[in-house]
Amino acid sequence: MNKDPIQLDPWGTAQIDDYEKLFELFGIQPLKVVMNDIPHPHRHIRRGVMFGHRDLELVIKAVSGNTPFAVMSGIKPTGEFHLGSKMTAEELIFFQSLSEKAAAFYCMADLEAYADNGIPLEESARIAVSNLADLLALGLEPKKTYVYKQSEETRVMNLSFIFSRSVTQNMLRAIYGERNFGLYLSALVQAGDILMPQTKDFGGPKPVVVPVGADQDPHIRLCRDLARRHQTEYGFLLPSATYHKLTRSLSGSLKMSKRDPMSLLTLNDDPAIAEKKISNALTGGRETVELQRKIGGEPEKCVVYELGMFHFIEDDAYVQRIYDECVSGKRICGDCKAEHASIVSDYLKNHQRRKKSFIDQAHSLLSNQ
Ligand code: SF4
Repeated sequence: MNKDPIQLDPWGTAQIDDYEKLFELFGIQPLKVVMNDIPHPHRHIRRGVMFGHRDLELVIKAVSGNTPFAVMSGIKPTGEFHLGSKMTAEELIFFQSLSEKAAAFYCMADLEAYADNGIPLEESARIAVSNLADLLALGLEPKKTYVYKQSEETRVMNLSFIFSRSVTQNMLRAIYGERNFGLYLSALVQAGDILMPQTKDFGGPKPVVVPVGADQDPHIRLCRDLARRHQTEYGFLLPSATYHKLTRSLSGSLKMSKRDPMSLLTLNDDPAIAEKKISNALTGGRETVELQRKIGGEPEKCVVYELGMFHFIEDDAYVQRIYDECVSGKRICGDCKAEHASIVSDYLKNHQRRKKSFIDQAHSLLSNQ
């Protein structure tokens, strides 16, 4: 693993306390410098949840000049859609909504699900249908989207094979540490996923933005390096990326991960169970109600506040009110948890209703690739 004080591990569960350090350590650029040029910014952008980028100017220019660009993302189909997947999906949908010329690419990373989690392809195929129905229910526009399974997209395979000629084991070890060869291979396949939208079959070189959680930056760095090495053959533009903060588990300790089902919320949780999970979540409350009334709570430490701010409350003024009431001692954790639990429960009921209506479409999109 690299020797930087912050270890970014795309397959791990590391927590990042100071996102600003990533600017200096890895050359990620602060998003606030360009955010005023982004039309109708998503709540992740408005609230600093999306905090960094690489070369987003290319995409902003394509939006304002009404020229083609792509947004690329994917999911490892290993289980239900959790809040980390929801963040990336919403950002994909946001970029897709910015222009009629925006094409979305969404990869069902079944090979990575096998390499990292041992999920057989037949099983991940079933999970992928459910994941895609979630994505459609969140607002993906299928007419402007290319969805595919990694294992069935030969163009991705071919690219990754070509890229493998310019990658040594030392390079991969320096970026990812000592990993099994399947993970190294899936990193190369992922570079194929990100660069495929720029190949001839999809209209040739164009800006492509990949919205990711901050821990995925090693994949972006490898892919940009490969784009540079293969620029002469393909004319690739270096892919752009945006970075969001990681969603913590409900216990507050790690990023929300499918590896720890009891501490994660998924879009398919039974709403009553989700409410129970929230009632046990970590807060930034004080030892006693009296003390909280006197000195206020700490929303920055509070997972419940984060749920509303990152994921479930669209209204900025409402989020600000929760913050102000918390720090002033006007708001007490028990009531606040119940308020958030009810918001989340309503959201889940509505989402699950919508999702049901998209299952058939998800099926046919994945079988007609
Ligand atoms: Fe979190 Fe609400 Fe308690 Fe404040 S009052 S610490 S926002 S649960």
